[in-house]
Amino acid sequence: MVPVELDRLRWIAVVLPVAFILIMETMRLLLVEDDPMIGESVQKGLRQDGFAVDWARDGQAAELALANDVYDLVVLDLGLPRKSGLDVLAGLRERGNSVPVLVLTARDAVADRVKGLDRGADDYVVKPFDLDELAARVRALLRRRSGRAEPLITHGDLVVNPATREASLSGTPLALSAREFALLEALLDRPGAILSRTQLEERIYGWGEEIESNTVEVHIHHLRDKIGRDAIETVRGLGYRLRSRP
Ligand code: CA
Repeated sequence: MVPVELDRLRWIAVVLPVAFILIMETMRLLLVEDDPMIGESVQKGLRQDGFAVDWARDGQAAELALANDVYDLVVLDLGLPRKSGLDVLAGLRERGNSVPVLVLTARDAVADRVKGLDRGADDYVVKPFDLDELAARVRALLRRRSGRAEPLITHGDLVVNPATREASLSGTPLALSAREFALLEALLDRPGAILSRTQLEERIYGWGEEIESNTVEVHIHHLRDKIGRDAIETVRGLGYRLRSRP
C-alpha cells in the first residue's frame, strides 16, 4: 500500500496550491416550467451546455423535487399550476434553503418580478428570452455562489473554462462532447478521489434521461483518447480517478 500513500502525498503537494480554483462540478439544475415548449427547449439547451437538468412541470412537483434532491440552481417559472412559483420560492427560503433561484417572468409582470426578488430570487429573465442569455445568467449565478473570481480550472497542462465549455491541453484546444466535458469536470472537482460509475452517471445525467449501459466506460475511453491514456486511472471494482499531472 506504500505506492498508494506516496501517490496521495504527491497529490497533496501538486494539487493543493491550485485546489481553490479546481472546485467545479457538473452542476445539477432544477427547471420548473409548465409550458411544454419552453420547458423542452430550456432543458435541451442547458443540457447541451453540460448541466444535468431535472424538469418539474408544476409547483407541487417542484416542492417534491426540492425536498428530495440537492440542486445547484433552480430556474423557476412564476405562473405555475397547483402552486405558484412565488409560493414555491417563499417556502424554499422559509425552510432555509439558499439555492440560487433564477425566476422566469412574463414581460408585463413587473409586480411579480419585484415580489420574486423580495421573496429571495437571485435574478430573473423576462419571457421571451434568449437561451444563450439564460445560460449566461445561470453560469454567472453559479460563479457568484461558489465565490470563484477565476473561472479557469487548471490541472497540470490541462485547462478548463466552465463558462465557455472549452478545454485545452498544453495550449491545444480539445474537442469534447458535452458528456465528456461533464465527466472531466466531475473528476476535476475531486482530484485524487475515486468516483464510482454510479456517481459519475448521476453527475452527467438528469432524471428521465436514458442511461445506456457502459456509457461511462465509453465516455472515459474517449476522454482518455483526448487528454492522455494515463490521465484517468481505473481503480478496479471501485471506479475512476484523475491522476496528478506534472
Ligand atoms: Ca407558466
